[in-house]
Amino acid sequence: MENIVKAGIFGVCIGDALGVPVEFKKREDLKKIPVTGYLEFMSWNQPKGTWSDDSSLTLCIADELTKGYNLEKIGQSFVKWNKYGHWTAHGRLFDIGGTTRHSIARLIKGESAKFSGNIFEEDNGNGSLMRTLPLAFYLKDEENIEKLYQTIKEVSAITHGHFRSVFACFIYVIFAIELIKGKKRKEAYFHIQKVAVEYSEIQGFNPKEIELFYRILKDDISTYPEEEIKSSGYVLHSLEASLWCFLNSETYAEAVLKAVNLGEDTDTTGAITGGIAGIYYGFENIPEEWISELVRKEDIEALCEKLQKKLIA
Ligand SMILES: [Mg+2]
Repeated sequence: MENIVKAGIFGVCIGDALGVPVEFKKREDLKKIPVTGYLEFMSWNQPKGTWSDDSSLTLCIADELTKGYNLEKIGQSFVKWNKYGHWTAHGRLFDIGGTTRHSIARLIKGESAKFSGNIFEEDNGNGSLMRTLPLAFYLKDEENIEKLYQTIKEVSAITHGHFRSVFACFIYVIFAIELIKGKKRKEAYFHIQKVAVEYSEIQGFNPKEIELFYRILKDDISTYPEEEIKSSGYVLHSLEASLWCFLNSETYAEAVLKAVNLGEDTDTTGAITGGIAGIYYGFENIPEEWISELVRKEDIEALCEKLQKKLIA
């Protein structure tokens, strides 16, 4: 498991940075001129290798986990990001989702991170899924599924407290844990399908909500044609798209480029795909050029090494 944290975290940041310049672009336009590497400026007017909120909040969580798990401190690191540009690529943030903004505003007013998140159905953007990967490193040896679920839930709910967002994070994290353990990806996928369905039955989760995860949990999402895979900012679309891209690719680069070229929420689909693809294919499989041109790569590397030491070896 050498470099596993680096593989996952760089996986997120690079997927994000590949997507930032083309965020909001339509799939049909990207079909004509597909992204094949870092671009610059365009959608957000940012230089090459710039990552966005997805990576910032992932790095905030990773950084807090190097000091031990503390929900309130994770919440406060989001505040520091929002107010002072903590863990931003160039010292200030240039993008923030609505649900995240509202929830952080509550934290700023003094609300506990336990109660800061939005909880309604319309609060199911991909804003907690995009930053949940570091929990896989923290929870990889947790055998109590209830503890696992509750931890993923409370971290999601700092901003995204609705069941759908929480459950999407849960599926993603338990999948990432299986990949960390070295399972083959199809084996890992079928395993988490079983675990998630069983757990939802034991817990008596709302069947209407579970039904929405049908294509992921009861069917095989990788077998759907591309035109049935959506890549908006909706959490369910992002989870489906990232699993689909990952399960239908043979390298890190192929997976993240496939994700970005789906269009729309390109940086987040790239980030979410990049996390699992990085873990699965390993740090060595990430193109060197993308690593060397990633903004703040030394800081990210130092953080990953610290987290690796704390949680893995
Ligand atoms: Mg973003």
